[in-house]
Amino acid sequence: MTASWIGFAYLLASALFILGMKRLGSPRTAPAGNRMAAVGMLIAIVATLFHEEIVRFEGIVAGATVGALIGAIAAQRVKMTAMPQMVATFNGLGGGASALVAGAELIRLAEQGVAPSPFVSVPIVLGTLIGAVTFTGSFVAFAKLQELISGKPTVFPLQHLLNLVLGLGLLGLGGALILQPEELRLFWTILGLAGLLGVLLVIPIGGADMPVVISLLNSYSGLAACATGFVIQNHALIIGGSLVGASGIILTQIMCRAMNRSLANVLFGGFGATTTRTGAGPASATGPVKSGSAEDAAAILDAARSVIIVPGYGLAVAQAQHVVRELGDRLIQRGINVKYAIHPVAGRMPGHMNVLLAEADVPYELLIEMEEINPSFPHTDVALVIGANDVTNPSARDDPSSEIYGMPILEVDRARTVMVCKRSLNPGFAGVDNPLFTLPQTMMLFGDGKKMMEEVLRAINEI
Ligand code: NDP
Repeated sequence: MTASWIGFAYLLASALFILGMKRLGSPRTAPAGNRMAAVGMLIAIVATLFHEEIVRFEGIVAGATVGALIGAIAAQRVKMTAMPQMVATFNGLGGGASALVAGAELIRLAEQGVAPSPFVSVPIVLGTLIGAVTFTGSFVAFAKLQELISGKPTVFPLQHLLNLVLGLGLLGLGGALILQPEELRLFWTILGLAGLLGVLLVIPIGGADMPVVISLLNSYSGLAACATGFVIQNHALIIGGSLVGASGIILTQIMCRAMNRSLANVLFGGFGATTTRTGAGPASATGPVKSGSAEDAAAILDAARSVIIVPGYGLAVAQAQHVVRELGDRLIQRGINVKYAIHPVAGRMPGHMNVLLAEADVPYELLIEMEEINPSFPHTDVALVIGANDVTNPSARDDPSSEIYGMPILEVDRARTVMVCKRSLNPGFAGVDNPLFTLPQTMMLFGDGKKMMEEVLRAINEI
């Protein structure tokens, strides 16, 4: 293939990446956007294989087949609640691959006795450094989320100082490698120390903050790929890497803002030490709590004219999305106006609720974002909260002393009746009590989200 065809293929691939990403902005167009970006990646891979005048394809075909099989099986099998772990492994492998490609190019040049120009040696150092940090950092994040290691922040004295010294030392070693690119020992030292830095940077962060860290590491993996693109002069890699780098950092910012936390607080705060709460602990909210049965809930829903369903992390845990959709459909059939309220950080990953509800075929037009739905709560008969806690906590709005004060919430407490389905009065991710449970208009529906919604549906069908 001639250079101009390769250039055209890369341009086409990059255009598909950009258009695909734009389509990821809405749940309706996201599947098509995903396919578009995947086609772009296929075009880029095929063009690269033609371009590089590869002599033997056996290794490439074997690698691509094994990788495609693992990817396809993982995509089918991985549970929605384990999606952050899967993204973490992909980021880690992306970062590791960038570091290896940068190193391979350095070794190739050294073997040929060619001294790389700074336009190549600087990106080699950056690709290696960022790639190795991403690789080990992502696997620590994976291990914390998968509970292979403790989700608690691992902290020790002078930890941040050690990280700072290590980071500065790595920059110094990187500078030395740029000046003496033939010194391959410097490369191996940077690779090893950057890997260590990746571990040290992630261990002090609580398991429940891992989704934010994974989004940040996603950005790093893009930057590493971009640097490697400069090393091997591959335009598709440069553009694709920059897109991942930029979108990862924007997503990190959105997540931090939606949690009312600064990135520094996530990275250095040692917050969110637990990944899950089992609900087995003692009740923690204070004040009188009204609880009702599935039959009570069915009667209230049947008498309502408008219902807003508010899903949260517990809905994902209970896998209640299908029965909730059935319940919503049944209410709509009865002439009730039903909407679903989506908080940007409900669940444990961005877009978690959109994905779950889309999986259950809830029509996209019924999913309403927080800013848009909040003014509707005061005119709504019932807010039905299923497995959501922090994202509905009024103290985030009203109590300046609350740990989550300032976090935007779904204002379910302004609805005429609030029904909250969860297993206990235990707090959610932030570990903060929720006064919503003791409000006079609130009725608790204690139980597993799926089982309780099945019972409510059955009771409605009997009315
Ligand atoms: P929360 O974690 O605040 O609450 C979830 C609730 O679900 C729990 O209180 C739990 O109560 C209940 N629950 C658990 N299992 C079940 C079950 N089987 N059936 C019914 N209920 C169940 O979730 P929210 O979605 O309200 O808030 C998300 C939190 O996660 C926010 O604090 C956010 O900042 C944070 N976060 C979000 C990220 C994202 O990208 N979305 C990333 C990182 C953090 P009980 O045990 O009593 O059943």
